[in-house]
Amino acid sequence: MAMDDCECMQPRQLACESQGEFIGVDMSNSRYGDVWRYQCPQCQQQWLFYRVEYPSFSQSGRWFRALLDASLALDSITPADAETLLNRASYRIVGGSYYQSAGIVIRGETTLPFD
Ligand SMILES: [Zn+2]
Repeated sequence: MAMDDCECMQPRQLACESQGEFIGVDMSNSRYGDVWRYQCPQCQQQWLFYRVEYPSFSQSGRWFRALLDASLALDSITPADAETLLNRASYRIVGGSYYQSAGIVIRGETTLPFD
């Protein structure tokens, strides 16, 4: 199966939280973003998954997951690295109540709405 055909490339959240490895909490701008690493069981690609929401604001829940470059030293990724890595990624999927969507593909460099 070609990597591009794998279900992990589809605009869905996947089981990043229940089956991924929790890396920690990103405290940048006091935002308490939860960060996971997830390896697709089918194609073995590595994803970075991020979830944050601001309880004082309705429809503020958002999650991002991005394909990690295979050349990255995966064990050295910290929660504070997540924003840069997710913004820089070439392929990412986002969703949540903020987007009012269960999944959208965003390609190329962008500035994701972390805050
Ligand atoms: Zn996959």
